[in-house]
Amino acid sequence: MRPGPAGRLAEAEAYDCQSCGACCCSPWTGDGYVRLYEHDVERLLDTAAAVVMQRQGDGEPAEFVAKLATRIEPDGRRVCVAFAGRLSGPCACTVYPVRPEACRRFFPGDGPCPGGARPAGGRNAGLSGRPRA
Ligand code: SF4
Ligand code: SF4
Repeated sequence: MRPGPAGRLAEAEAYDCQSCGACCCSPWTGDGYVRLYEHDVERLLDTAAAVVMQRQGDGEPAEFVAKLATRIEPDGRRVCVAFAGRLSGPCACTVYPVRPEACRRFFPGDGPCPGGARPAGGRNAGLSGRPRA
């Protein structure tokens, strides 16, 4: 059975997200990563984080959605524009207090979290399980 909110928070604290950052690394090739809803865009207005409009699918008329922009790391990996630091090293989210809803809903250990593969009591697995763009 899935633990309740208190259990999930305790679980989350077992992960060293500030030495990982894997979920802030985009698995896609486009300029945008995290999907933004209107309230996300409003919350991010006072930050320097760039927002891009990205076409979704091939339908007509074209549908565009707002996303947090990405930037390319020196090693070619694409990360969220709000990510600071080094992947699999010291890192942080520069917009953490106003981070988008999608990021708020994502808990360490959730399905796509590569840190979920960490050995018991050991370090996060970091980027080892993450698809690369
Ligand atoms: S991938 Fe998992 S362990 Fe790594 S920063 Fe994201 S939530 Fe934390
Ligand atoms: S907004 Fe913050 S938590 Fe969300 S992907 Fe970007 S850097 Fe990571």
